Amino acid sequence: MPGDPTAPDMTTQPRPVYVIGAGPGGLAAAAALRARGVRAVVVEKSDEVGSSWRRHYDRLRLHTTRRLSALPGLAMPRRFGRWVSRDDVVRYLEKYAEFHELELVTGVEVTRIERAPEGEDGWTLHATGGRELAAAAVVIATGYNHTPALPDWPGLDGYEGRLLHAREYRNPRPYAGQDVLVVGVGNTGAEIAVDLVEGGAARVRLAVRNAPHIMRRSTAGWPAQRSGILVRRLPARLVDRLSAVVARASVPDLSAYGLPRPATGLYSRVKQGSIPVQDVGLIDAVRSGRVEPVAAVEAFEGAEVLLADGSRITPDAVIAATGYRRALEGLVGHLGVLDERGRPRTHGARSPEQARGLYFTGFSNPISGMFREMALDAEKIAKAIARRSRTAEAAAR
Ligand SMILES: Cc1cc2nc3c(=O)[nH]c(=O)nc-3n(C[C@H](O)[C@H](O)[C@H](O)COP(=O)(O)OP(=O)(O)OC[C@H]3O[C@@H](n4cnc5c(N)ncnc54)[C@H](O)[C@@H]3O)c2cc1C
Repeated sequence: MPGDPTAPDMTTQPRPVYVIGAGPGGLAAAAALRARGVRAVVVEKSDEVGSSWRRHYDRLRLHTTRRLSALPGLAMPRRFGRWVSRDDVVRYLEKYAEFHELELVTGVEVTRIERAPEGEDGWTLHATGGRELAAAAVVIATGYNHTPALPDWPGLDGYEGRLLHAREYRNPRPYAGQDVLVVGVGNTGAEIAVDLVEGGAARVRLAVRNAPHIMRRSTAGWPAQRSGILVRRLPARLVDRLSAVVARASVPDLSAYGLPRPATGLYSRVKQGSIPVQDVGLIDAVRSGRVEPVAAVEAFEGAEVLLADGSRITPDAVIAATGYRRALEGLVGHLGVLDERGRPRTHGARSPEQARGLYFTGFSNPISGMFREMALDAEKIAKAIARRSRTAEAAAR
């Protein structure tokens, strides 16, 4: 990354910028800040960088391409291949922190962010161990997929079967020969269902509330992500129409198997927060009957799972791929910077009007790929913070 000749002087900066979270979003922001001469300290609650990626299931690969997933200032090595494996993502994040010589504090969780005491600029971070950290600015990169979320299913507390959230799923070995119900057909649910089938589960059902848009990860060498980048600024209705044409040409109609094409267009669904499912084997598994789509889960009763079509089933295990919460309320909820769904009202270079100096990255789920968007946001955030530091320095002179 090129150094910024007009950068503020790092050695005279009294308080650093704190970046919360050492996932790709936080590391990218810290590297971009450092490249602009702004001292950034990354605070991470786990013991290592990339903790979310270390926990993901074994077979996971990026569904965005290697090139379009690189963070600022360091390409991913060619040997990682086009679709980078989970382990290589972790390797890359480790290397990234080392390469950019990032200042990292691990094993510390930031619990609350407050304005600095009266008369001072900036922010105070309250962290585990009674720590109070004084920050010139704060970048919050604690992750879109922060806390596993389960629907408020009636009877869940008394459910006698085995239920786990997708975050706890690693590989199909424990489920060989078992009857498994996967709940939720986003990318995670779809991929876990296929993994179970390939790993020898006896029966795999996939509970579907809203049938997803399904697309090929790439068509004739052209990655779906590139299409996402090209169309992301076009009107949703136009993209909905274009994508319907592409879907009809490239994805078979799975209505007869319980996965009809959604009535709401692809990009309209993205805008509602639901990105399309990239096919990594679901289409074939559904067509061959190895993954059986079933109605949505409504409730639990004893050892039974009650489905929306009135049927009752008793799988050996239920894997809930039902998403995550941002869980930002405790950290910044009191600052009025979250919307009614608990998401930051601003992101990237925009800092909330009532909370200048707070920045958020990684809290949207864009069609163009999150790594890519976090890389772009990192540069924008760093630019905005460097500008603020220069102005503050000039005022102090
Ligand atoms: C299964 C799966 C597959 C994905 N595949 C892709 C893909 O192919 N391409 C793509 O572009 N995106 C993908 N994403 C989306 C996204 O890129 C990843 O979730 C990515 O890890 C998000 O990075 P992040 O830095 O925002 O959050 P995370 O990687 O979750 O990092 C957040 C970090 O913050 C730490 N933290 C949280 N709270 C605190 C606190 N209070 N104090 C201190 N530390 C804290 C956490 O321990 C964690 O290390 C995928 C997501 C999932 C779940």
